[in-house]
Amino acid sequence: MNSTNSFLVFAIAVAGLCVCASDVRAQAPGAPGTPYPDMPAIAPIGVRIGKYLDVPDSARGPAVDPAKGYRLQDLGGGLYMITDNAYQSMFLVYDKGVVVIDTPPNYAKHLPEAIAQVSGGSKPITHVIYSHSHIDHIGGTKGLGGNPVIIAQEETLKLLQRAKDPNRPLPTVTFKDRYTLRVGKSVLELSYHGNGHEPGNIFISAPKQRVLMVVDVVFPGWMPFRRFAVAQDVQGSIAQVEEIRKLDWDTLVGGHVERTGTHADVEMQAEFYSDVTKAAADALASTQPGAGLNPADATNAWAVFDDYIDRVALKCVNTLTPRWQGKLAAFDVWIWDQCYAREQSLRIE
Ligand SMILES: [Zn+2]
Repeated sequence: MNSTNSFLVFAIAVAGLCVCASDVRAQAPGAPGTPYPDMPAIAPIGVRIGKYLDVPDSARGPAVDPAKGYRLQDLGGGLYMITDNAYQSMFLVYDKGVVVIDTPPNYAKHLPEAIAQVSGGSKPITHVIYSHSHIDHIGGTKGLGGNPVIIAQEETLKLLQRAKDPNRPLPTVTFKDRYTLRVGKSVLELSYHGNGHEPGNIFISAPKQRVLMVVDVVFPGWMPFRRFAVAQDVQGSIAQVEEIRKLDWDTLVGGHVERTGTHADVEMQAEFYSDVTKAAADALASTQPGAGLNPADATNAWAVFDDYIDRVALKCVNTLTPRWQGKLAAFDVWIWDQCYAREQSLRIE
């Protein structure tokens, strides 16, 4: 392979992770981004869909007032979801104060105003709970001020010690498996179910309100974020969807997209993950490494692998498209990423 072709293969590998697969892979043979003329199209032309247009109404939530920058959803018993329809977090108002659960920087500056809106005054934030260490979910903590007790799983403490981010103050209380927070008449039960999205990511249950919050694992009505929501452990994340499915709750707060989740949403995501797994496994079993490879590349190990991996992912995408397109919002945006990630995890884990 000459250096131009090598660059193209590299570029398409990167593009496959960040651009709608149907745009990248279905170009005419010989066009930039198509290293081999016989590379199959990413999806049958007849069923291809417009990029970033595929969001059914069922995936939409109530609108956010742009002047306000957030909306509140009353989950009962003093518990509220706050969201900008991209991120979601919660807070719990009790007699003496407020427990804040996650502080997405997207709207964290509105938290005091949102809390005042429903608590009718100036209750102090006594506790902050971190769902996990990622900055996009807890990076607004420092800005809240005060001196709250900060609760997180012990792996989250380790990750934050490493991050040394002043916007994410270190937890002051940590736990390994379970932690129960009682404030006023309210209870929050925190539990750890191992690595999936990342070490330290916890389940937060409000049993009285019948609410479960698990961030970056289930995406109600939507295609999960790319590569199984950038799961550090793909198998672990799939297993956690199953755990969420079996637990007893009425409302799921997933940390992202436009609305809260139902059991039907979790069922659908579990079914999707099961289908991705089967499609990727079938594609691995039925694809020959090196088939269709330019003979000049036969001694280029990375070219051999890249061609193989891409063919497997393509087969997987083409299997899933007729069944799932239009069922999960934005299926087209990240189906390549999901097939690629599952194929990798099946092949090497
Ligand atoms: Zn995360």
